[in-house]
Amino acid sequence: MAGNWKMYKTPAETKTFFEAFLPLVAESKHCEIAICPSFVNLHAAVEAAKGTRVAIGAQNLYWKNEGAFTGEVSGPMIKATGAEWVIIGHSERRQYFGETGTTVLERTKAALACGLKPIVCVGEVLEDREAGRTEAVLAEQVGGGHAQLDPDSFAKVVIAYEPVWAIGTGKTATPEMAADAHRLIRAMVAARFGETMAAGVRILYGGSVKPDNVKSLMAQPEIDGALVGGASLDPGSFASIVNF
Ligand code: PEP
Repeated sequence: MAGNWKMYKTPAETKTFFEAFLPLVAESKHCEIAICPSFVNLHAAVEAAKGTRVAIGAQNLYWKNEGAFTGEVSGPMIKATGAEWVIIGHSERRQYFGETGTTVLERTKAALACGLKPIVCVGEVLEDREAGRTEAVLAEQVGGGHAQLDPDSFAKVVIAYEPVWAIGTGKTATPEMAADAHRLIRAMVAARFGETMAAGVRILYGGSVKPDNVKSLMAQPEIDGALVGGASLDPGSFASIVNF
């Protein structure tokens, strides 16, 4: 269960969140828990979560380790904060910041090279779904991105299926729609890496996951977890999702 805090919260607000959140998930041993704040909150989040089962992740990384790349943050820099995860290719990055299959692949390789665990996001926009292009878009995003990795590297990747029309809109894919998309992605993984890898890959669903819909989504065997945006900002609501 991973929380994507997007561009919200200061370090002080991060500390306050963890004070409320940690006791609520102290007994939650059924899943891994990760929170991905903005770069400037990584240190505060890592400090606050130290000694707990909650891991911290970033929301992006640049693929060079260092250099004259003003405004960018590298994998080794993120790793040095104590963060373990990194979200890659979120639809907001594809939509507003020119993320493509090529840059998703570069970032994924860079994350793996420094020991960060990538959560790679894929998902179709509404026009694609309405035009019956969901499968083609997923094939392009999976095939052009992490499916290019070698099998050992791919084994460390978590995929997040996030239909873009369901992100931050309050519209959730029905559990069946989400499961269908997860099945398609798993079949693509099977075709590229074989059935064992396909059975083992973790695919999270993201898109308006809330305390009141998480149970029905997680009831689908195809859905291995959730990537949660808005509802991860509130400690009570994210804890309810973790403890579905
Ligand atoms: C996200 O940002 O990855 C996301 C799924 O957002 P929300 O839960 O707010 O739709």
